[in-house]
Amino acid sequence: MIVLKQVPEINAMRASGHLAGTVRDKVAAAVAPGVTTAEIADYAGDLIEAAGATCAFLGYRGFPGKICISVNEEVVHGIPGPRVIAMGDVVSLDFGVYLDGFYGDTATTVLVGVTDTDVIRMVRVAEKSLYVGLEKAVVGGRLSDVSHAIQRTVEMAGFTVVRDFVGHGIGRALHEDPQVPNYGRAGRGPVLKEGMTLAVEPMVNQGKAATRVLSDGWTVVARDRKVSAHFEHTIAIGADGVEILTKG
Ligand code: MG
Repeated sequence: MIVLKQVPEINAMRASGHLAGTVRDKVAAAVAPGVTTAEIADYAGDLIEAAGATCAFLGYRGFPGKICISVNEEVVHGIPGPRVIAMGDVVSLDFGVYLDGFYGDTATTVLVGVTDTDVIRMVRVAEKSLYVGLEKAVVGGRLSDVSHAIQRTVEMAGFTVVRDFVGHGIGRALHEDPQVPNYGRAGRGPVLKEGMTLAVEPMVNQGKAATRVLSDGWTVVARDRKVSAHFEHTIAIGADGVEILTKG
């Protein structure tokens, strides 16, 4: 069941989304060679808690980190730890915050002194695909219009979208209906309505789309070990168009 949000709920999600976006931008700016992923996650956790919110991913189905940090061939759900960020790394950061009863969810991918032009292009295409998809998130459209626009943008550029993980509805729960795939034919799925709140999150691989989960039970990697990127916004569909709640 898709929960449509009323104005007071959208207002609350604007607050949780804004916090998530602000934390994302501050933490992304702090990613640098020599920093460990645990230090990055602690910084995020400090910012989230200082705002009176909680880290939504910590303990979610047992996830052990304050945020997810996925480096290079890691796609999503990487666990922060002693790994030291190095020049040439591609670092995906995924933030979930819980503030006053509502969730915000956003991700970005940071290039740390990357010189490989194909990798740089892949990351930029992944980011662009999110915004191309969001342009389709309009009242009266269909959910898969968003999915299709993302897939088309990515594949036209010669990269692939991950199919094993998808975006989702979001609100009083971190994961609500509907699922939001990053692939599919246009014109299918639920009709988009005012008050829908979605986390749209393309996961884009430089190589093939196939993934597997490492033995830690969480970290998802590209099977071919090529580089992956992840961008995500929490949005609200309004009468006047899409509103990005995690703008920051
Ligand atoms: Mg999400």
